[in-house]
Amino acid sequence: MGSLTGKTAVVTGSTSGIGLAIARAFAGAGANVVINGMGAPADIERERSGIETEFKVRAVHSPADMSRPAEIAEMVALAEKTFGSVDVLVNNAGIQFVSPVEEFPIEKWDAIIAINLSAAFHAIRAAVPLMKTRGWGRIINTASAHSLVASPFKAAYVSAKHGIAGLTKTVALELATFKITCNCISPGYVWTPLVEKQIPDTMKARNMTKEQVIKDVLLAAQPTKEFVTVEQVAALALFLCGNDASQITGANLSIDGGWTAA
Ligand code: NAD
Repeated sequence: MGSLTGKTAVVTGSTSGIGLAIARAFAGAGANVVINGMGAPADIERERSGIETEFKVRAVHSPADMSRPAEIAEMVALAEKTFGSVDVLVNNAGIQFVSPVEEFPIEKWDAIIAINLSAAFHAIRAAVPLMKTRGWGRIINTASAHSLVASPFKAAYVSAKHGIAGLTKTVALELATFKITCNCISPGYVWTPLVEKQIPDTMKARNMTKEQVIKDVLLAAQPTKEFVTVEQVAALALFLCGNDASQITGANLSIDGGWTAA
């Protein structure tokens, strides 16, 4: 029996990167999972059925678009209809856009605030009544080092991530006596396909070796000069679901190779 056997976890943005690793770690601990996110239907189905065969749990995919509140409510309803509950909610879906503030496209600002911040509010709003009914719950928000510090040209992302940190604290206080915790995880640079794909172009553009690009460009802000791995973020998320973490609530947990210590 895994630590999450009999429990249901909803992980938004879990067709790739950090969310995928979290969904797999939770399934590995015995949870039935609702995966969510974009992608080619065949890839999503391979992921979904792979989780079921590998971990002997059930997995369903919700196609909910995190910029649409009604679809977010439908995702939570799908979890309840399929598995009878939502015990763990991970608000992880996120997008990025980089531009000087005076040129920042309004529709990009709106999309980032909707997907990276408001979606977490809508999902929490829908899931909390179910958690209260069962008398237990874990809410985990994927924030970022950018919930604690800023970088230029990321006005919307930094604003949304600072917002997530505030939402986390508020929800933690409201649910403190209900055995429901709410925390956020704040990664620095995480090795995802998204990051990996940028390396060859940057090597060419700056006439650098792969090692130079990683150390001097991508990891300039990260003192360890190493990436965080998706598995490390997933392990922290899984720890937050356990009994040993029942007194951790309202926390913003950095996993950033020392970035925000500087
Ligand atoms: P990723 O691009 O690999 O995955 C993002 C996921 O979100 C995908 O499954 C995608 O389909 C989904 N998604 C995007 N828009 C969506 C929408 N409208 N509706 C539903 N799903 C949507 O990215 P990642 O690196 O795994 O990032 C996941 C989270 O971690 C994000 O919140 C990101 O801000 C945060 N984060 C990432 C890093 C990093 O270095 N990679 C660092 C700190 C924080």
